[in-house]
Order: sequence, then structure tokens, then C-alpha cells
Amino acid sequence: MTLNVLVLGAGFGGLELSSRLATELGDQVEVTLIDRSDAFVFGYAKLDVMFGKRTADEVRMPYREIAHPAVRFRQETIVAIDPATRSATTEKGTYSGDVLVVALGAGYDMAATPGLADAGHEFYSVEGAAGLRDVLAGFRGGRVVVGICGPSFKCPPAPSEASILVEEMLRERGVREQSSVTLVSPFGVPVPPSPELSAAILARFAERGIEFRNGRRVTALDGAAREVVLDDETRIGYDLFLGIPVHRAPEVVVASGLTENGWIPVEKGTGATRFPDVYALGDVTSVGTPKAGVFAERAARVLADTLIARHRGQADPAGYDGTGACWIEIGSANVARVDVDFFSVPGKPIGVFTPPSAETFAAKESFGPERRARWFGTPAGR
Ligand SMILES: Cc1cc2nc3c(=O)[nH]c(=O)nc-3n(C[C@H](O)[C@H](O)[C@H](O)COP(=O)(O)OP(=O)(O)OC[C@H]3O[C@@H](n4cnc5c(N)ncnc54)[C@H](O)[C@@H]3O)c2cc1C
Repeated sequence: MTLNVLVLGAGFGGLELSSRLATELGDQVEVTLIDRSDAFVFGYAKLDVMFGKRTADEVRMPYREIAHPAVRFRQETIVAIDPATRSATTEKGTYSGDVLVVALGAGYDMAATPGLADAGHEFYSVEGAAGLRDVLAGFRGGRVVVGICGPSFKCPPAPSEASILVEEMLRERGVREQSSVTLVSPFGVPVPPSPELSAAILARFAERGIEFRNGRRVTALDGAAREVVLDDETRIGYDLFLGIPVHRAPEVVVASGLTENGWIPVEKGTGATRFPDVYALGDVTSVGTPKAGVFAERAARVLADTLIARHRGQADPAGYDGTGACWIEIGSANVARVDVDFFSVPGKPIGVFTPPSAETFAAKESFGPERRARWFGTPAGR
């Protein structure tokens, strides 16, 4: 019997799930994968686009290149989800499956931070990063503020990375002396689960004169006064604001009744929701790991293995363990790695830090090509 799986969202989670099911089950599975975009872009590639290292076109991976015969990709916008019937409606029709998986990620609520859209910039969307490319290229120095607007956000190291890279850019352009760089973060340290990575980042900040304003969020931008407003009402003057907007589950997910307190609660081990045969994974959930692709991918892999085992009448594999590895560039192509385990000790993530080396650099370089080959069914390195 063929297993029909309907996957909503072709991001880190949706692509890993679809490709694994297709590779393992072959003609015993039919995956319908829906996304409104025509291409996937790695989150970290947005920093490359913003700093002019690669163009937006160069980092796009068009979905039309998906070569797995069992995966049917549809570029459509999902306008309604009905978990009770495991179905989703787009502008073109209604789809359903034996299994429904919601992997629609986290969206951005620009309006939640008054002034952000008009008097600042965000670099968390491809469009935002692409627009910043020209803004940064034309920037002749001044007060740069990198600011986090919400309590939780994708890829916790990314704002620190952006601060380090913008400082480097100012230095290379010879305008560092007339500039300042400040990072506003709700966290006490840059990456709380890893004290060693945080110490390495803070050491770099100290060396490069980057101010770390911790324990604070950005609530508004006063464009007329050129001031960033923080959640304790203090203000910081700015000439260039690079923001991380408030994150929210997509509206269509909230309207489906799947969310509680803004995100989809799931059973940790499998990603099961309260509806039979309806699962959720990645940034759209409140599973207890940070919003990062490596966690979405690992949860997707476990869910794929669970669905495969059940389809074959076998016992469930070990559940999702909340582990993942992140890479971070601590300046001048120095790439460090941190492995974090979020579930072993409840409420106490354990991070293992690997300092920058040739190996960590090579591992980051091969991360994208490996996934592209796996997800799209094409040779590595393309
Ligand atoms: C600057 C930056 C740097 C990052 N660096 C890293 C990193 O180094 N490592 C890492 O692991 N993570 C990183 N991330 C985080 C990572 O990109 C996300 O956490 C990850 O993509 C989440 O995967 P997901 O599958 O849950 O959702 P996503 O990958 O966001 O996929 C969700 C998909 O759903 C689609 N969608 C949403 N709504 C609809 C709709 N109504 N109809 C149709 N389609 C819809 C979207 O188009 C999207 O393709 C970074 C993020 C940013 C912004």
C-alpha cells in the first residue's frame, strides 16, 4: 500500500522529511510538498547576500530541481489547514494525506516594532538581506545598532555574527574610527547554552570594540530622532539599524487551531500534535529547542524514520533527542562549532564548544552542498 504524506513547507524540515521518505520508501510513498516560494535559501546565506559575498540568485536552490520521483512539489500558498481531515487548501485546490506534516516555519511581524519597516532594516528575510546589500555598500560609517525585537528568534548566534561582520566591513572600508557597533539582545550572554562560545564571542566583541547591550529588547524605532527605543524606555542613537523582527507562527497555522501560546505544541519524541496522524516540526513548534535549521532537520529525520518503521510494521525508532550542531563565524573566516543537547537534562541545555580550526571551517563549507544533494536528489557540490 502506498503511504500518502502531505508536507506543508519546503524549508529545512520539509525538505529533510520529504527526501528521506522518498529515498527510503521509493514507490511505496507519495509525498506532496507545498511551499509558496520557488526556491530554498539557507538562513546563513542571507549574511553572504547582505555583505555582498554572493548574490540572491546565487544562493537560491530552485524547487523545480527536486529530482526524487516520489516527491510532487507544488508552488502554492496555503490559505487554510484542517487538521481534523489532514488537509490543506491553497489558491489552486485542496490536498489531503494519510499523514499531514506542518513545517511552515516562523514568519516576521514587522508591525510589532513600530518604526522598523520605515526607519530600519531587517536581514532575516532574503528580500531584507538583498535590500541591505546596497545600503551597506553605500554606508560611510556612523552608529550601527544590531537589535533583537522579540524574545525568541532564529539561529541565536546570527545577530552576534552579523555584528562581527559589520564591524569588519567598517574596518575594511576605513570608516571604523567614526563608527560604533552595538548589539541589543534579550539574553545575558550571546549564546546562553554555550558559555564557551559566548566567551569567545564576547572576547571578539571586546577586541573589536563592539558594545553588547544584554538583557534588553528593541521595542520601537524613533525615525525622526534617529533613536532605538529599548524595553526599559532607554534610547540609543543610530544611523543604521539592522533588526531581527518579532517572530510569529504563520497566520494560517494560528487560524487552524493547532497553536497554543503562538506555537504548535508537539509530543517531543515524534512531533505528534493532538490530532491523529498530524505532526509538526521545526520553527513552527514549541518543542523546546531553539529555532534553527539543524534542529528542524533532526526532528524531520526522526519523524521520517518513525513513519517508515510504522509503514513497514516495525517498532518505532528512538525519539527526537533535541540535539544539534551550529557553526558560527567569529570573524575573518574563523568558524567555531557548538554541539548542543536540549533534552538530556530538562531545562539545562548542554553545549560542547569546538574552537575554530581547519576542520570546523571545512565542515561548514560542506554543510550546504551535502544537504542540497540529499534534498534535491542531485550530485553533491552543485
Ligand atoms: C540570518 C539567519 C541565519 C541562520 N543561520 C542558521 C545556521 O547557521 N544554522 C541553522 O541551523 N539555522 C540557521 N538559521 C535558522 C534556519 O534558517 C531556520 O531555523 C530553519 O529554516 C527552520 O526550518 P523550518 O523547516 O522549521 O522552517 P523554514 O525553513 O523557515 O521553512 C518554512 C517554509 O514554509 C513556507 N511557508 C510559510 N508559510 C507558507 C504558506 N502560507 N504557504 C506556503 N508556504 C509557506 C516558507 O516559504 C518556507 O519555505 C538562520 C536563520 C537566519 C534568518
